[in-house]
Amino acid sequence: MKYENIRKIVLDAILEAVEDGLIHGTSGNIALRDDNEDVVAITPSGISYKGMTADQIAIVDMNGKWLDGPFKPSSEVPMHTAAMRARSDVRATVHTHGMFATIAAMSDELLPTTPPQCEFYPVGIVPFCMPGTNDVADKVVECLGETGRTVLIKNHGMFSVGKNMKAAMAAAVYTEEMAQIAYYAKVAGVYQPMPKEAIDKMLALIAADQAV
Ligand SMILES: [Zn+2]
Repeated sequence: MKYENIRKIVLDAILEAVEDGLIHGTSGNIALRDDNEDVVAITPSGISYKGMTADQIAIVDMNGKWLDGPFKPSSEVPMHTAAMRARSDVRATVHTHGMFATIAAMSDELLPTTPPQCEFYPVGIVPFCMPGTNDVADKVVECLGETGRTVLIKNHGMFSVGKNMKAAMAAAVYTEEMAQIAYYAKVAGVYQPMPKEAIDKMLALIAADQAV
C-alpha cells in the first residue's frame, strides 16, 4: 500500500473522532500531508468510518486531485488542501459537525472558559458558504489567517488545523469543549469567559512553551 504511514494516521484519527462523538456517521473528514512528498491522505466520501481500513483512505495531490484509493476523496477536499497550501505549518486538518461547535457557530464569538482552551483563541467564525466549494475553502483560509488554529463555519461545523495530527485533533477536541462549556454555562446563567488579560498571559506562556 502506498503512503501507508499517513493513511494509518488518518484512519486512527477518524476512528478516535467517531469514538469520542466528535464525528457521527459519515459527517466530518480528516486529512494529513506527507512530510516528504506533496500528497495528502484524506478520508473518503460517503463511506461509514466504522470498519474502515487504511487502504480505503484516499490520496490526493495538493490541489485535491484524486491520485489513489478505491473511494473518491471527501467532498470537502478543497477546504483541507487550501489550508495546507496557504500555511506551510499546517500538516493536519480536522473538520467536524460537532453539536456544540455548530451551535456556537451561530453566535458572534466563542471565548475560552479554561486555561487549556486559550491555545486555540481566537476562534474565527466563517459566514455560511455552500459546503464542498472553493468559496468555503477560501473563506476558511482567510479566517484562519497566518496563525489561527480553529474556525467555526455558520450552519455547518468546525475546521481545525495543526502541525501534526495530534495538534489538529487537540484543536478540534478543545474547541468542541469550549463550545460545550459556554453553552451549558449560558443555560445555567453563570457564563463567565476567561478575562482577555488572562487569555493573553496564557498565550504568552504557550508561546514560550511554559504552559503547565
Ligand atoms: Zn462538513
